[in-house]
Amino acid sequence: MRLIIMGPPGAGKGTQSTRIAETYGVPAIATGDIFRANVREGTPLGVEAQRYMDAGDYVPDSVTNSMVRDRLAADDCADGFLLDGYPRTLAQVDELDGMLKENDVALDAVLVLTVDPEELVERLVKRAESDGRSDDTEEVVRHRQDVYAEQTAPLIEVYAERGLLVTVDGMGEVDEVSARVRTALDGVA
Ligand code: AMP
Repeated sequence: MRLIIMGPPGAGKGTQSTRIAETYGVPAIATGDIFRANVREGTPLGVEAQRYMDAGDYVPDSVTNSMVRDRLAADDCADGFLLDGYPRTLAQVDELDGMLKENDVALDAVLVLTVDPEELVERLVKRAESDGRSDDTEEVVRHRQDVYAEQTAPLIEVYAERGLLVTVDGMGEVDEVSARVRTALDGVA
């Protein structure tokens, strides 16, 4: 299975990705997690990414694309993967298309979690309290929602036109959402 999971910040992508990855035996690749690990370790990539992340802006495509290219070249991605948080811009879609084409593989589905915008802000502010993420202050949270609406939401239409879109209601208990995701993906592979 080659999957993308999309949805606005706070939609529960991370939680669902872990479960989907287990179910299908594919690695979950979360670009946000890779960036955060680099920030923690103080690598040059982390130093570059941090100022964008702290402001709630996207890290430049050139940086993000080469990071994903390296990750997808790893052996564990040969038979499938779940991308969480990538692509996020139209330029990243093109870049991912190129990477897949080079390997003569294709996406099976793009899963979109839909959620109520007010609930999102509430979830993210709670997460800030428990995880201490520096990009989860209310102001940054709202900015991240705007950036998503502007730069990432248009990707949904692109994948819909390709017939890849699987939309799942992301509201409610984690287990309920997982069950919906499972049913929706069973129809794909
Ligand atoms: P996330 O954990 O997916 O919410 O990502 C946290 C932050 O990492 C984002 O707000 C961006 O600054 C950065 N980031 C993650 N994925 C990408 C991406 N595909 N393109 C650009 N920036 C990204």
